[in-house]
Amino acid sequence: MIKMMLKILLIVGDGMADRPIKELHGKTPLEVASKPNIDELASRSALGLWDPLGPGLRPGSDTAHLALFGYDPRRYYPGRGPFEALGVGAELRPGEVALRGNFATVDDNLIVIDRRAGRSLPENPELVKYLNDNIQHVDGVEVRFYSATEHRVAVVLRGSALSADVSDTDPHEVGVKVLQSKALCDDEKAIKTANVINKLTLLTYKLLKDHPLNLKRIENGLPPANIILFRGAGQMSYIPKLSERGDIILNKYLAISATALVIGVAKSVGFDVITPPGVTGGINTNLSSKAESAIQALKGDYELVYLHVKGTDAASHDGNLEAKIKMIEQIDGMIGKIIDNIDLGSTIVAITADHATPIYVRDHTGDPVPLAIYSPFIICDGIKSFSERSARRGSLGRLRSVDLMHTLLDQANRIRKYGA
Ligand code: ZN
Ligand code: ZN
Repeated sequence: MIKMMLKILLIVGDGMADRPIKELHGKTPLEVASKPNIDELASRSALGLWDPLGPGLRPGSDTAHLALFGYDPRRYYPGRGPFEALGVGAELRPGEVALRGNFATVDDNLIVIDRRAGRSLPENPELVKYLNDNIQHVDGVEVRFYSATEHRVAVVLRGSALSADVSDTDPHEVGVKVLQSKALCDDEKAIKTANVINKLTLLTYKLLKDHPLNLKRIENGLPPANIILFRGAGQMSYIPKLSERGDIILNKYLAISATALVIGVAKSVGFDVITPPGVTGGINTNLSSKAESAIQALKGDYELVYLHVKGTDAASHDGNLEAKIKMIEQIDGMIGKIIDNIDLGSTIVAITADHATPIYVRDHTGDPVPLAIYSPFIICDGIKSFSERSARRGSLGRLRSVDLMHTLLDQANRIRKYGA
């Protein structure tokens, strides 16, 4: 008999899980949202809970996604900077240091007036190009800026003997002076890296303060983007791609997302990435085009498709209960469209969240999240709804961290035997 390898579709509502909410009479957004497609699929699935990092540990979207993709975050997490940089198009090799940056507004004494230079900054790509044209090296370290959304940038430092053990120059408040980056340990690499960051900061100010685009912004009453503040240094570590791992059988896999951080994590483990047209990463995103992309990818030669929806997390951080429920209902529509158009006889469909973002907390918590795994060959639990509560009764019990990806790969006959 030929061992049939199944395809896998993994769908995540970012921060979708929640806690009981008073206004909902103790129910959660997942429990009150109308989601016939998800519930129907759940009734044919095995259910359970998943702890992205471990019980009570509060994940970032980045560490949660590493675990989701089958990588122990404690071993592989390089910090947020490298993933953000990868997510906005940087190429990053092991050893290189990446930081996140903000175009900001400072006065002549480098006192921060606006940490985001007004936030709306259509000049961002042009200013980044100008910086790249005029700064190639600082103390022998290659420097490359990457434009991101609004006022955001990423910067990559390429050179030998660098370290991410350095502090931010971003003071994270206004009315105070831009900070000096300092080595956080008594290490020559860290001292050198901090020096480069400090020189680079002054260089951005020198180049940007009289830039014609900034003079024009001042003329129009807008805060000039006259410096870049750095934070979140991280050093890229070696992360083997899923396709390079000897323990699993996976060659082509695709992530569908509009969120730089998630795209960065996906790229770091070898995913092809697409952001379909109309997809924003916010609550006004076009989920129908996401569904279409997933359907096409699964009809093609992709063996694993990861589909990420950010809107549930955005609504949760805003404390917007109504938007969160609506977003879940939109996800349901998206899933309905997908399952009507793929072969459920050869595809596993898993639905979960990367962490809980309870409306009342407005931030990520360490609660376990609900998980449903549909497979044509799984023993289903016959639980007719998908929620934080119903998943507790499921046969998968409580999976932890990398267990989820291993379970999916095992169901798909894509994991190798451990032992003889
Ligand atoms: Zn998240
Ligand atoms: Zn979040």
